[in-house]
Amino acid sequence: MGINEEKREKMEYISTRGGASPIVSSKAMLLGLAEDGGLYTPQSLPMLTEGQRSIEANYSEIAARILALFLTDYDLRELREMTAKAYSCPRHFSVEEIVPLRFVGDGLSFLELWHGPTSAFKDLALQLLPYLLRSATQKQAEEREIILLVATSGDTGKAALEGFRDIEGTRVVVFYPVDGVSEIQKRQMITQEGENTCVIGVKGNFDQAQTGVKAIFLDQELAGKLFSHGKCFSSANSINWGRLAPQIAYYVWAWKSWGQRDDRLPEEGFNIVVPTGNFGNILAAYYAKKLGVPVKRLICASNRNNVLTEFIRTGVYDRKREFHQTMSPAMDILISSNLERLLYELTGREPSRIKALMTHLQEEGSYSLESREFQELQMNFWGGYASEEETLFAIHDCYQRHGYLIDPHTAVGYKVYHDYLSETGDHTPTVIASTASPYKFGSAVADAVMGGEKKTNRDEFRLLEELSGYTGVPIPTNLLNLEKKPIRHRRIIAPAEMRAAIETVLGL
Ligand SMILES: *Cc1c(COP(=O)(O)O)cnc(C)c1O
Repeated sequence: MGINEEKREKMEYISTRGGASPIVSSKAMLLGLAEDGGLYTPQSLPMLTEGQRSIEANYSEIAARILALFLTDYDLRELREMTAKAYSCPRHFSVEEIVPLRFVGDGLSFLELWHGPTSAFKDLALQLLPYLLRSATQKQAEEREIILLVATSGDTGKAALEGFRDIEGTRVVVFYPVDGVSEIQKRQMITQEGENTCVIGVKGNFDQAQTGVKAIFLDQELAGKLFSHGKCFSSANSINWGRLAPQIAYYVWAWKSWGQRDDRLPEEGFNIVVPTGNFGNILAAYYAKKLGVPVKRLICASNRNNVLTEFIRTGVYDRKREFHQTMSPAMDILISSNLERLLYELTGREPSRIKALMTHLQEEGSYSLESREFQELQMNFWGGYASEEETLFAIHDCYQRHGYLIDPHTAVGYKVYHDYLSETGDHTPTVIASTASPYKFGSAVADAVMGGEKKTNRDEFRLLEELSGYTGVPIPTNLLNLEKKPIRHRRIIAPAEMRAAIETVLGL
């Protein structure tokens, strides 16, 4: 049955900018970013066979089978062992289904991606990535210590720290924007335990931290020093293929979960709404569509940093705009790294075109699509955004209408979904990716749901308790435990000091 007996076609990975030779997935995951600055992408995109489409299985089995299509230098048995360990309940995830699909009525459901150890969707990839990388070091006979370098807008950092803490042969260094994350997110990171973890605050925004990390990656002198110290860099950001591949699985899972209900999906399938920042999560949904999952439209939801909305509507990407700090900080991004992988598909996989677009972006701060590319974009995507006020209202409205509590990122998706309905009249069944627990962003959610009552109590943890008392929705245990944990990481630096900080931390 299924791909047990099917012969798997070997899949290799190439750079979107064409300047790297094809390599197997374990190598692409160890490297993170290609040496020409491009992103590793599968040489061709696979399709689900009839056998694979009809499989009924639990989450870890579905994940193993989807991964097997992309990571062909891993065998299925090995992948099964890894997904069974990563996606286990109650050890790492707090619900048996791992990723429950909650139906709230009117053909709308939420794919709850936040039941892992750090309460955001990043856990789905980062609980698994350490196993994938550990095996990758064996496959590639890599004996150097792996330094995972992470720029985070709040959730990736914590998920990477939890996934890799005390994993032998690895070390995690996280840079986060000091004023660009929620109270709870900050607390999660600065209390991080583990002998191999390091958390550094950057006085700047996420784009600055991400740019700094990319520069460190491509710094040849630093690479030489690292080499002589027996270390090498890898990435836990979604530029790493090892981050994206596990995310494709939950969109296949969403489709399967819907298929098990009585109200069958229509022939053309369903729409998926994804609150988007670095374009990783929605790109995984696009790959799921390419696999043959019946997805009609991918709805890209942004906050006030609406560079992607404009791009999808006009075909012009222009990052020359004001940066806004919002209550959905994981989406406060103007340079969406993974868009490069989508461009690769839109341009008919043309590396020279990607290089031209990326050079234009770097030199002029913008680029525009040609009409064929733009058509391809519009056939698959729809874009919208929510202001701060609209985000708060969306949290309120969803709670009033459906009795369902959502976080500000998911609320951006909920608002844009309603815009889509009224602008297109398309009532196709829809899945909204619910990307974080509402309790990670307690003060915004309490504001929206309890209104003035919240003002009586400013302490974040009391606020969470109040919100839980008011709504009856339990607080995830990992967040409850935070209050008692001592602070272990206090370092704060300027963006220009990131490289020097790395040298100090690693003793180079
Ligand atoms: C990371 C994150 C996003 C954005 O996801 P991308 O893959 O960067 O587009 C949205 N919501 C939450 C809660 C996140 O942590």
